[in-house]
Amino acid sequence: MQTPSLAPAHACPSCGSELEVDERFPRWCPGCEWNLAPAAPAVPHRTPRQQRKALRDERREAARQATVRARVEKLYESLTDRPARTRDASWFAAATIAGLVHLLTLVLFTGSVALVCDDRWPVRVLGVLGLVVTVVMRPRLGRLKDDATVLRRADAPALYALADRAAAAVGGKPVDVIRVTRSFNASFGRAGLLRRSRLTLGLPLWTVLTPQQRIALLGHEFGHDVNGDARRGLWLGTALNTLAALHDAFLPDRRGPQRGRILLFAMIAGTVQGLMCHLIRAVLNLLDGLTTRSGQRAEYRADALAAELASAAAAQGMLETFLLYQTYETVLLRLRATPRPRRSGRPGDQPPAVDFWTSLADQFASIPPLERERLRRLSALDLGSVDRTHPPTHLRIRLLGGRPDQQPSVTLSTTEIAAIEAELAPARARVASELLD
Ligand SMILES: [Zn+2]
Ligand SMILES: [Zn+2]
Repeated sequence: MQTPSLAPAHACPSCGSELEVDERFPRWCPGCEWNLAPAAPAVPHRTPRQQRKALRDERREAARQATVRARVEKLYESLTDRPARTRDASWFAAATIAGLVHLLTLVLFTGSVALVCDDRWPVRVLGVLGLVVTVVMRPRLGRLKDDATVLRRADAPALYALADRAAAAVGGKPVDVIRVTRSFNASFGRAGLLRRSRLTLGLPLWTVLTPQQRIALLGHEFGHDVNGDARRGLWLGTALNTLAALHDAFLPDRRGPQRGRILLFAMIAGTVQGLMCHLIRAVLNLLDGLTTRSGQRAEYRADALAAELASAAAAQGMLETFLLYQTYETVLLRLRATPRPRRSGRPGDQPPAVDFWTSLADQFASIPPLERERLRRLSALDLGSVDRTHPPTHLRIRLLGGRPDQQPSVTLSTTEIAAIEAELAPARARVASELLD
């Protein structure tokens, strides 16, 4: 493990208190928050006019962030105050809009088929055009791809057994497929007509989590299946996908061949295209507004399930790890730049993958608490990047902090941990070479 290089004592330029310094990370003061967010680099050669414009943009951005902050914090307060119903008026309105989208697709399809069957050729052309739009609007059910990322039940009985325990503990069904990818993330989804479930585990994220935090991750992901998030349901989810695909198809200035695009764009004038784009955007925004509340509530619910499964501390640790994404990228760049010894082919030789995963885990373990605290506070400041699917991480961590200390309902024995680790070995070799080469 790399030991932090501690420099001699430094004083905070703002409040004078002594700073703990690790040269691998930015210096900052936890007392007065000096240098918490490193200042953006100065832009040289700005005319007074450009400066005024930049200032206006900055103010506008600050106002936008303040609005977002007020909205998510209000939501957070209201969620902690009282539990709300999953199916309220907003849910009903969103489901109705989704129904109209599906109805429109159906009407367009049947209408286009009728036009194609007409005797007059201009009418037929119109029918074909309608069918092209229907193809863009078709409900996308998703597909479970069978590629190298899929880990079969027979090849990973211990991992599947853990996943089944986690799913059962939150009230869900056993997962159909587990995928192991190279992302620093995890996800859960359903696909196809049979709505088969798929759990995707990013191996870098999995590696830097403790065993209990991994259980928390599974708890959160399986929580998505039972937390009543309408946006992930078949009805609303496919309508959202249809609108997004339609929006993309009407988006002007797209490059690269797209299905149906050339035909579509050749026949529709730019103005109509732009208007359609705005209209679809407006419907998407409306749906977003109607479902943000229930969606964020569902995410908090998934976090609560993760805490019940693995303990609140493990769930908080798991969430904090998501804040370390930049650190992960830095470590990855460093490891990529490190010369790797070639395998000699002698028996007992360790493949480079082993070095990679050990280094990654070690570097994460050596991140000092002060740097973790800096990232936590930064995430509270940086509300501009709040994504549409999850509440801000610092609020999720804070909400878990208010939970009573509970014994975890799922734990792992050292034998189970070792068995899962052995099952992941082939995936480790594959992902390491994907990440390093
Ligand atoms: Zn200070
Ligand atoms: Zn989630």
